[in-house]
Amino acid sequence: MEKKYSIAIDGPAGAGKSTIAKALAKELGYYYVDTGAIYRTVAYFLDLLGISPKDVDGVERYIDELTVGIEYDEDGRQHMIMNGMDVTEEIRTQDISQKASLVSAHKVVRDMLLDMQRDVARHNNVIMDGRDIGTVVLPKATVKIFLTASAEVRAKRRTDELLSKGQKVSYEQTLKDIKQRDYQDSNRPIAPLKQAKDAVLLDTSELDIDGVIAQMKRIVAEKIGL
Ligand code: C5P
Repeated sequence: MEKKYSIAIDGPAGAGKSTIAKALAKELGYYYVDTGAIYRTVAYFLDLLGISPKDVDGVERYIDELTVGIEYDEDGRQHMIMNGMDVTEEIRTQDISQKASLVSAHKVVRDMLLDMQRDVARHNNVIMDGRDIGTVVLPKATVKIFLTASAEVRAKRRTDELLSKGQKVSYEQTLKDIKQRDYQDSNRPIAPLKQAKDAVLLDTSELDIDGVIAQMKRIVAEKIGL
């Protein structure tokens, strides 16, 4: 089988991972996998059932009833399929962000999703973004990048994004949510958010999207060649 390339992008919420990864994937002709969307789908499923994301027994009892699918439309946009239903839009709320962060701390959830993520990378050139891609999911990724920015900049970006989708959010609340998620994601015992030893750190606080893409291309070119 021909060698597959994988680019792992990790970092906290709002660092610009998905925007950048999507643009880069398009340019390179790679698959883009937004792994946060997978955790969001699990959170949404449990939420519909009325299971608290902190309820260990409830999560363990119902998780087997969920089948998560990833599909791509003609524009290369990732769609999340929950037991046959497209929930791509429904999972993009602040409430589900918080619940995904809590749900993703459960071992049973992470174990279930690990093979699924690795499988995509086994068969395709991928750019995968998340929290533990370079450390756990693809420890041998060809390129690893840790994308970050100050909490304030990330909150501003996330607020603008949600407002543009017509959701009612305030900057203050978004900043609070982002800080709480940073804490939860970085301090959980299994697969916490952290920079892999061999990842390149890129702080995007002072950069616009084109600036970040240019830096990313430089990093990728050094490892793979573009
Ligand atoms: O990236 P996004 O904000 O959509 O992720 C939602 C939540 O899913 C994160 O706060 C994190 O707790 C969890 N997640 C994770 N591991 C990943 C991707 C996301 O634990 N690889």
